Amino acid sequence: MTSGGDCPGMNAAIRAAVRVALSLNMEVWGIKNGYAGMTANEFIPLDSRSVGDIIQKGGTFLGTARSEEFKTSAGRQRAFENLKRRGIEGVLVLGGDGSLTGAAMLGELGMNVVGLPATIDNDIYGTDYTIGFDTAVNTAVDAINKLRDTASSHGRVMVIEVMGRHCGAIALTAGLAGGAESILIPEEPFDLDSVCKQLLASKNAGKQYSIVVVAEGVGSALKIGDTIASKTGLETRVSVLGHIQRGGAPTVFDRMLASTLAERAVFGLAAGVTQVMYGVHAGRIVPTNIHDAVTKKKNFNEDLCQLSGMISK
Ligand code: ADP
Repeated sequence: MTSGGDCPGMNAAIRAAVRVALSLNMEVWGIKNGYAGMTANEFIPLDSRSVGDIIQKGGTFLGTARSEEFKTSAGRQRAFENLKRRGIEGVLVLGGDGSLTGAAMLGELGMNVVGLPATIDNDIYGTDYTIGFDTAVNTAVDAINKLRDTASSHGRVMVIEVMGRHCGAIALTAGLAGGAESILIPEEPFDLDSVCKQLLASKNAGKQYSIVVVAEGVGSALKIGDTIASKTGLETRVSVLGHIQRGGAPTVFDRMLASTLAERAVFGLAAGVTQVMYGVHAGRIVPTNIHDAVTKKKNFNEDLCQLSGMISK
């Protein structure tokens, strides 16, 4: 099942999970549209051919949704009974924070559940990378490269808003890899006056143009752009990347991460593992208690912040 916000690599994970499960002689069902489909009894049988031609596709062919009904105990009970009636013995949930919280609650009802972190935000405790993050930052860096061409031609400040309501991982990584002069993220308080001073100092040091990457969680990029323009007198443009960051063919990294995590998840379910999320740490697949995965806060990478400050001068 895929749930919550879609991300590139979900299809690659489903494909691997189905085929590994079939190789273990399991019977495999897909649940349509996340917990909404689980409560509405929307299940489809999956065989090897049903997951053909999807490894390269963004999104999720099973569909995804947000379900308010599943947040109620009556809704969860209905979902649980739908699973039991079909003789389903284990559920693999792919999604972000909310979806894994739902998986933990389904686990408490007595269903075996294993989760995989699938969200472009890279905000889940217990894994260095979530499925979809690498593709999203590559999309953002590609856009930054293109916006750089026009910023450079006109000698402008380009303010680029990327996704991340509570987590600056996309902004920090795309900003660093995209060579941004300034990166504004929710985890680090910032002062727009100093950002403006820094942009003017860059201009005085001979930089013809500047890139400012803003995570959506720090506030409106349009307002930030207006303030920069009025405080510095520099010609400024704003670009909000939006949902383009969620789509597209998954990168090799995301396909590998999705396929290897899915294999481990299915082996886990086959061995009776439950209430576990599999992630990756220091290049190895690691299990994390699913309750910890959704309640503990992932460490914010201060070092990358410092590095970005140092190499953008
Ligand atoms: P994501 O998984 O991308 O973080 P959401 O936060 O929207 O997306 O969660 C997806 C779905 O997971 C929700 O619509 C809901 O059905 C389920 N869910 C989220 N939080 C809870 C919760 N506290 N209890 C039960 N189900 C939840």
